[in-house]
This record gives sequence, structure tokens and C-alpha cells, in this order.
Amino acid sequence: MAYDIDMIKKVYSQITERVDKAREVVGKPLTLSEKILYAHLWDAASNKAFKRGEDYVNFLPDRIACQDATAQMALLQFMQAGKKKVEVPTTVHCDHLIQAKQGAVKDLKRANETSNEVFDFLGSVSNKYGIGFWKPGAGIIHQVVLENYAFPGGMMIGTDSHTVNAGGLGMVAVGVGGADAVDVMAGMPWELKFPKLIGVKLTGELNGWTASKDVILKVAGILTVKGGTGAIVEYFGEGAKNLSCTGKGTICNMGAEVGATTSTFGYDDSMERFLRATNRDDVADAANGVREYLTGDDEVYANPEQYFDEVIEINLSELKPHLNGPFTPDLATPISEMNVKAKENDWPINVDWGLIGSCTNSSYEDLTRAASIAKQAVDKKIKPKSDLGINPGSEQIRFTAERDGLLQIFEDLDATIFTNACGPCIGQWDRSDRKGEEKNTIVHSFNRNFSKRADGNPNTHAFVGSPEMVAAIAISGRLDFDPTRDKLMNEDGEEVMLEEPQGIELPTRGFEVEDAGYVEPRKDGSGVVINVAEDSERLQLLTPFKPWDGKNLMGAKLLIKADGKCTTDHISMAGPWLRYRGHLDNISNNCLIGAINSFNMKANFVKSQITGDYAGVPDTQREYKAKGIPTVVVGDHNYGEGSSREHAAMEPRHLGVYVVLVKSFARIHETNLKKQGMLGVTFDKESDYDLIKEDDTFNFIDLEDFAPGKPITIEVVHADGSKDMIKANHTYNENQIEWYKEGSALNLIKKANA
Ligand code: SF4
Repeated sequence: MAYDIDMIKKVYSQITERVDKAREVVGKPLTLSEKILYAHLWDAASNKAFKRGEDYVNFLPDRIACQDATAQMALLQFMQAGKKKVEVPTTVHCDHLIQAKQGAVKDLKRANETSNEVFDFLGSVSNKYGIGFWKPGAGIIHQVVLENYAFPGGMMIGTDSHTVNAGGLGMVAVGVGGADAVDVMAGMPWELKFPKLIGVKLTGELNGWTASKDVILKVAGILTVKGGTGAIVEYFGEGAKNLSCTGKGTICNMGAEVGATTSTFGYDDSMERFLRATNRDDVADAANGVREYLTGDDEVYANPEQYFDEVIEINLSELKPHLNGPFTPDLATPISEMNVKAKENDWPINVDWGLIGSCTNSSYEDLTRAASIAKQAVDKKIKPKSDLGINPGSEQIRFTAERDGLLQIFEDLDATIFTNACGPCIGQWDRSDRKGEEKNTIVHSFNRNFSKRADGNPNTHAFVGSPEMVAAIAISGRLDFDPTRDKLMNEDGEEVMLEEPQGIELPTRGFEVEDAGYVEPRKDGSGVVINVAEDSERLQLLTPFKPWDGKNLMGAKLLIKADGKCTTDHISMAGPWLRYRGHLDNISNNCLIGAINSFNMKANFVKSQITGDYAGVPDTQREYKAKGIPTVVVGDHNYGEGSSREHAAMEPRHLGVYVVLVKSFARIHETNLKKQGMLGVTFDKESDYDLIKEDDTFNFIDLEDFAPGKPITIEVVHADGSKDMIKANHTYNENQIEWYKEGSALNLIKKANA
């Protein structure tokens, strides 16, 4: 379980030297975000004043964390890299594949039966390659990271968008795709566009019913779901110091909901308290030694407008509790206005479920504040009107909460204690009370509330609030309940009010756990055998993609010309396909099934140039592959936007698509295509998109001269024999052309390690 104190000390010795140098180079005081970024440059000598929002920069993160759903493909790829061990400390956390249904004991048992194969695989790969393994039930990745690995001033990447949670302990922590994580595991740099910076100045102090969660609910309302895109949100001010470390984690966690690259806070006493409470005195001592480097310069926070690209100010003393939703996390409504707004929008008033926990809100403080409300319901004889479910964030939290009687309080209200795992937060919820698509309302303390996310029902109206507010609303059973104003009727027919929540920041008797669920990898894992059954439907070992034969690509057929938006969800759908994330061939059956064919405006219905028949994209493509016919996918603007999942590039590659030709790419997807050895090119003249016909054949007549900055000429042969010559541009540099030549970036790494 051990964090690496030597590595942390090395980072701290580096941070002093590099930050001082960066301040000189940049020529002005630095924000915390800049300090961490400059301290983690891959090549310290490349230190220059990077342009925010423009320059792509190579970094060397300190840690990597992967969750079970994304780790499968990441580790399958890493196994190809020819490395004996990961180059950067890495952990794997089994948390997404556990369905919430009957409560922790039964649910965990069932998950261990149904996903046993995947957990075994992840465990043995971790053991072999020096990766720390957190078993199913050990907890949710981000809570476990906060309690064990996060450290002020560090940089980490994780194959999950809420990796940003570690900003609560002063990190720059970013969610990435598996391919990026594999690069870093294999000893390569991690590339990121130097982010813009949004400063959030917090003044005052939280009070009454207002919680840390309300800070980010408010920020989400201001910035909206896109407002943080490409930026780091840095919190500062007296108000920030008044928040607990885990409260800061909650705020950073939901920074993902405003699209931010990440969010962070400067090192302060709350972080020191948390480090010491989680048995990391040595980290706290080391951090204290470089304290001024672990927060922004005084001048920056005194005149933030001069140093941030945007500044927001929030007075915590005046902040009101909010509920955000439904269907989007940025629709912020103060609790006091919910009665009017719910009526206006026809949101169902009766609340079916209140769900507390997830990686966002399952700290000791969260549970004590929510329990203080639940206890009042028991003491005042108020029978809760909604069902209540609790997902502790880690076994350490669960064990400590049980020891301190917190879980008993919830159980006294008939709450279901689910496994220490994601459960309803990621749709892993077999909801017993409603099936089908009935309109209903739930409230939860999670982060995301998109349609269908919790239970698959598009008509479930999910609202996000603080754990204590969720508890209060679940007890009242009403969405429009405002505990500061409204009374409740108890079992004796008396009207009673709920008093303000009371929380305890950290357990006075310390954290305790019997079995945290951690498995330390072997020092020498060379003898560990990885077993993947040939007939497994969940896992498949990868076969290296074939290198380029060095010749022009001739006779390629059009597979699909996608119309309009084509995101990674259109290319590789999520939902039920989550199950196949570790089996490239099986998950390839969702390849491009969401893309709209521009010739008939239907999804998953394309013409085969072999038979002339129309069929699904994967089946049609498999026919081409079987006959050795290369194919081309044509797309519109911003092709591949959305998630960074590498499946969207690996699937077409696996099925035999050679080229993706579009008006423009989403950058991460373009990089993913390059990494997987695909040719990703853009129309020089966007209007050439209109020249492409359903029966076209493509000849890439000067691919043999593939070189940086040199456009590629494509001869497009139409069914009637007429031809168009079009020019396509690309952004491959020398190294990326080597990836293409070798068949993939991994093949190149493997060659280097041979
Ligand atoms: Fe993601 Fe929810 Fe799990 Fe957190 S609890 S890691 S947001 S699925």
C-alpha cells in the first residue's frame, strides 16, 4: 500500500529548483498550477514561457491510477510494451464492475462471481508488472488515492475523468485515456496542451446547511459544463483555507463537470491534518519543508486578475445550499427556490431514492454530517419517505464509520449500505423499486446526473446535492423540501424541524481498517503467468498490429461517410458495451454503430461494395477484412470528440480500416489514431467532403513519400469511372511517422525495449 516517500522527496527537491527557474523564465510570479506543471516537465531544459491554451508540452507524472473498466485495455496494451515493470508507480482499483442491489455482502459476492475473470486478470497483471492492486470492495479509486497516494505538489494521471479529485490534496491530477497511461507506464512522456488558468477566490466560511459541495454546484452554475475546458481551476483565499481537505477533494472532483483539465488547492493546514490522520507524517513533514512552493505566490493571489485568465469570487459565508439538475450538473438551483422551479418545470416532487457516497462525497466529514441528520430523524421519530442508499468510498472509511456507529445510524433508518464501489453512480444499480421508463426523481451526492446514468431510465430526474442535504430530502421525501424553512410531521403527529448538520472533519480515534483490500505486487513478477482463456468473451490478449508495408495504399473502399457529429460514443458506444472493454474483437462489434451514414441518414446501415447489400458497419467491415480489402472512414468536423477512450481508434484498426479522412479531428482522438498506427488525415478543401460518393474507391498515390508537413494526394475513383484528385493534410511528426511505419506506438516501444 506504501506510497513512495523517496519519490515524493525527490519531487520536492526538484520543485524548489525548477520553480525558481521557471519564475525567472516566465518573468512573473507563479500560480500553484504553473509551479506544479513546470516542476514536472519531461525535459527540464525545455523550460520556457509556455503559451497557455496553445503549446503542447511533455510532462512526467509521478503516479498513475487505473480503474477496472479502463485498466483492462490499458494493461493489455502495456503487456505488449516489452517492459518488465511499470516505469512510474501505478495502482489498479476494482470499483466499477460491482453492481449495487441487495447490499454490500451479497453484491460483492455476486460481482466476484460474475467478473471474477476480469478481477483475476487485473490482479495477475498487476502482480507481474509491479502495480499495486486494490481488490473489489477495497474502495473507489479516487477516495483510495486521496487516502493513500495523493500528495501536495504532485502530478498524476488516471484512466478515469474524476482523477481530478486528488486536487483536494494539492495535486495536478488529470483523467486520461488508457493509451496515454500506457505511454507513461512504459517510460514515455505525457503530452498536454499547457492549460489556461481559472482562479476561484473563496472568502468567508461555510455555515449552517451549506457544504463544500455547494461551492462546486455554484461554480458549475457559473461556468456551465464547458466553461472549464482546457483550463485548470485553482482555488485560493481565506475561504479555501477554511475548508477541509476532503471538502476540497469534493470541489476538485466535480471540476470534471465543468470540463476542466483539473482543479487544485494550495497546501494548507487542512491538508497537513489529513496527511497526518491518514498515517503520512513523513509526507506532511516533507511538504512543510517546501510549503511556499506548494501554493501560488502571494502576489498572484493578491492581484489574481493579472495572473489568471478568468477569476471568480465566492463568499462562502453567503453561499446557499443548492441542488443541481436534472440531466445536467450545471443547472444550479438554491434549495430555497426549488419549490417554485420544480413546479415550473414539472419535475416530479416525490423523491424515490436518496443516495449518499461515491468518490465525490464519502469522507468521514460527509458521513458524519449526513448521519447527524439521519440521527435526528431517528430521535424525532420521523419515518423517512424515500429509500436511502450509502456507498462508502473505501474500506477504511467504511470500517471507521462502522466502528464509530455512523453506519448503524443509517441502518436505523433502513438504509442499504452498498459495497465500497461506484454502484449507482455509473449505472451499476439493479433498482428494485422501478423498472421501465417511469418518470421519477432521485437525489444523490454523486457528481454526474446525465440522462440514464444511474439506472438506465431516461426519465429518472437525478439531482446532485451535499450528503447532508440528500439525507434531509430523503427523509422528507420531497424535492422541494427546504430544511431551513419546512417542518416535517413525525410518527406522533407533531411538527418537527431538522437542525443544522454537525460534522467531524477527521475521526477523533483515528482511521482504522482490518483489511484495506490492497495487494502488494511481487518484487520480481517475472514468474507470474497471465491466464486469459481462448474462449473468454470478456478478455482477449492483443496481437500487435501489422507494420506498414511501405507502399502506397491502393483500392481502399469507403466504409462509411459519417454525417455531422461523430463522437467517441458514436464510434465506440458505452453502456452495455462496458462489459467488453477488455476484448477487442467483441467490443469491435460496436464499431461506428452510432455514426450516421450520410447517404441514407441511418445509423449502422451502410452499403457493402462487395455485395451491394446494406448491413451494419461492423459486419460490413468484417467482410472487407476477410477479403483483404482496405477501407476508409470519412467524417465531418471535430471527428472523435468526447472521451479519450482508445477503443475508438483500436476498433477500426482491428477491423481493417486503414484511413480516417475528415474535415477536422478532436485532438485526443487524432493522437489515438496515430498511436494505433492508423492514417488520420484532413481534407485540404473541406468542400471535398461533398465529392465522396457511396461506391468510391481511394488510391493514396504518394503515401510512399509520407513525411512531416507533406500533404497526401488521394485519387478518388467513382463508380462510373470518373475520378477526383484531392489533397489531404496531416500532423504526423517524425516520431509519429515511425509509429505508423511500425504499426503502432506500442510496436515502436517494444522494439526499443527488445
Ligand atoms: Fe466515476 Fe462515480 Fe466511480 Fe466516482 S463513483 S469513479 S464518478 S463512477
